[in-house]
Amino acid sequence: ATENKALITLFGATGDLAKRKLYTSLFKLYQKGYLADHFALLGTSRHEMSDEEFQEMVLNSIKDIPAKDGEAEAFSKHFFYCAHDVTKPEHYAKLKDRLTELDKQFGTEGNRLFYMSMAPQFFGTIAINIKKQGLLTDDGYNRLVIEKPFGRDFDSAKKLNDELSQTFEENQIFRIDHYLGKEMVQNIQALRFGNPVIEALWNNRYIDNIQVTLSEKLGVEERAGYYDNSGALRDMVQNHIMQVVAQLAMEEPVAFTDDDVRVEKIKALRSLRVYTPSQAAANFVRGQYGADGSQPDYRHEDGVDPESGTETFVAAKLMFDNYRWSGVPFYVRTGKKLADKFTRIDVVFKKPLIDIFANPNSGNEQALHSNVLTIFVEPKSGFALQLNAKHVGQGYTTEPVDLKFLQSDSAKKESPEPYERLFHDALEGNHTNFASWAEIAYAWKFVDVIRNLWDIEKPQFPNYTPGSMGPAAATELLARDGCKWVYDL
Ligand code: NAD
Repeated sequence: ATENKALITLFGATGDLAKRKLYTSLFKLYQKGYLADHFALLGTSRHEMSDEEFQEMVLNSIKDIPAKDGEAEAFSKHFFYCAHDVTKPEHYAKLKDRLTELDKQFGTEGNRLFYMSMAPQFFGTIAINIKKQGLLTDDGYNRLVIEKPFGRDFDSAKKLNDELSQTFEENQIFRIDHYLGKEMVQNIQALRFGNPVIEALWNNRYIDNIQVTLSEKLGVEERAGYYDNSGALRDMVQNHIMQVVAQLAMEEPVAFTDDDVRVEKIKALRSLRVYTPSQAAANFVRGQYGADGSQPDYRHEDGVDPESGTETFVAAKLMFDNYRWSGVPFYVRTGKKLADKFTRIDVVFKKPLIDIFANPNSGNEQALHSNVLTIFVEPKSGFALQLNAKHVGQGYTTEPVDLKFLQSDSAKKESPEPYERLFHDALEGNHTNFASWAEIAYAWKFVDVIRNLWDIEKPQFPNYTPGSMGPAAATELLARDGCKWVYDL
């Protein structure tokens, strides 16, 4: 592994995300040699804490990761702390001094990566102060990694982006969408562009519809306060689902570089049909979960407004107006308290125009099934291709069979977690797995139409049973087109 020399400034160093994901990811990069002698992290938050206390906190976060003797301690010596209120411009001077010191001490060659892991209302303020108070360097790189959510709608996202742009250029900004760090989401491009047998059929001549499901089994849990203000449309559709859909819909990039991939994703999202309000109403379904035995319905969860109109489920039909996809619906859905926790993509191919095996005269009315390519994103990782084959035995009937590839448990263990991958990409300056501003802007414009409508019209909630796959309307959305969800109960 090549060492990445970098000085990381982490805003929100005592937060949940930092403790659960960021320190563990950095430790894994350290174990693999991507981070070595020439890196340091300066953590900040409002609390007062010494460097030693912070190092203890980091050690505690990584304690469950198997390591060589002394490895964790050596790693923790790269961590430093500075109490800091991001809203106080005068506090940045202290940060600046410590960064200058650490840069010298660790020989990080002026490479600065700023990571914002805080409530989003601070993102703009931090960015502006980073520049104003002189935290940028001239000799190495300056990069910004920023957590979700990126705005609440197009206008707020644009405002945030304008603020970030005062300090950072687009190619210095890394917007985290952890779905893009998932092994099988990254695999979509290998599957498509590495396999003529797939890519040759990847269009409206052969594909009937594409389905994307991000299904969660749990309810809101501890995130109720945040979630009730956000809802499934903002929390899952605008970002994760749109990013997955863009990868499925995009044209082949000239090369597999971040710039080339970006161009194609942006083009795909540009051709996504932005609905009129009445089209949006017809092509979106929202839901909220009801009670389940002793478990409360969504409105009675702790931290949720008892009259909340927030959706915990969304299904939608998306259409791309371009030559490849004209006429092919992309059905997407996501929700909480559904039947199971999984993410999958089902690509449903058209049936043969003529079914020569169906023979009504002999009472054989069996019909060929559609070929379906399923990409299992999680918890299983792999894919399956459903084909029609002859049923074993006398007579001649066909039945669907699966060609299947699932990653072994050992391969899955080897596979880096999304945050480890994305951290590494940001250190390398590779944008492939981050969302660009243009993608985010198109996604918000698409989503805002239905959001505005849903904010006005009162929903009939709750409308689905925990453990189901959402409200009946989500089934009807496809039935109307003569389709059905491949994964159904
Ligand atoms: P958190 O509330 O646990 O942590 C926030 C951090 O910010 C704390 O360290 C706090 O001390 C610090 N802070 C708050 N106000 C401050 C101020 N004025 N000055 C300086 N420091 C201040 O939040 P989190 O759950 O770690 O989330 C961080 C970011 O990551 C958010 O953008 C969130 O949306 C995103 N995110 C979190 C998760 C997760 O699982 N926790 C998942 C995805 C995205």
